[in-house]
Amino acid sequence: MKSEVLLFVGETLGNYGFPDGHPFSIDRQGAFWNETRKQGLDRKVTVAAPRIATREELLRFHSERHVTRVETRSRIGNGYLDQGDTPAFPGVFEAASAVTGSALEGLHRIMAGEALRAFQPIGGMHHARRDQAAGFCVFNDLGVVIDTLRSQYGIARVAYVDIDVHHGDGVFYSYESDPELIFADIHEDGRFLYPGTGFAHETGAGAARGTKLNITLPPGAGDKEFFAAWERVLEHLRRFRPRFIILQAGADSLAGDPLAHLNLSRAAHAHAASTLLALANDTAKGRLMVFGGGGYDLGNLAAAWTGVLSRLTED
Ligand SMILES: [Zn+2]
Repeated sequence: MKSEVLLFVGETLGNYGFPDGHPFSIDRQGAFWNETRKQGLDRKVTVAAPRIATREELLRFHSERHVTRVETRSRIGNGYLDQGDTPAFPGVFEAASAVTGSALEGLHRIMAGEALRAFQPIGGMHHARRDQAAGFCVFNDLGVVIDTLRSQYGIARVAYVDIDVHHGDGVFYSYESDPELIFADIHEDGRFLYPGTGFAHETGAGAARGTKLNITLPPGAGDKEFFAAWERVLEHLRRFRPRFIILQAGADSLAGDPLAHLNLSRAAHAHAASTLLALANDTAKGRLMVFGGGGYDLGNLAAAWTGVLSRLTED
């Protein structure tokens, strides 16, 4: 029988994490996986092995200059890939290529009809730009998936939804003028948090005006504010009837995250997953990819992401 949900976990993905007490540590995948097995969710999915993206695949979104720079820095094995948030380490090129390659493998298997949905906890690197790393994000797997949908599968109208506590600036600004990329992002107000962007007036540029929705929540906001904002997200997405849906489900919006100041519970993420699943079934032939994104409290990310995975396996 065909399994509906692919789960991407494995050693090369687990290696994506930074050394020396960095909040994006290498124990994030393990924390999620332990909780997944404890709940028996591993038996309800097809566990899929990571694969490394080729250079050609990375170049669908990224500049040659950026890919070469990461490769060189990875060999040297020290210093930073950006202004000081994203350290280089030996093998960072391979680890970041595994994040993107696994995302493309999930996409390939969904488009081939082998599965309907995919969840990849170590993924959703929404701050990386076409030409630079940023905010713990080396290669933007989301951008590579979006550009691959266009170039390899002929699907232009893609919805990108982001509930990570930080604004998905690497996706937003890469497609700001693209009227077919339907964007919706709920995040903590940029006046209080990195990257300081994603204000309500940013609705897309030129022909894309109105295709992007940025909703900011004030520090301290919780489920009540999130659920109200989420209704606006659903309304926005329904208007455009996307043919493929991507969710970045960062768990750093939960209460107690060490880097941010929102107070969501795991219920927010579970609700987002189940309502997007219904929307995907309605407009996108069920095609939905979910990525873990941020989340720096191990208990929170395990709770939020297993909640999401559980909803993905229910339908
Ligand atoms: Zn984040």
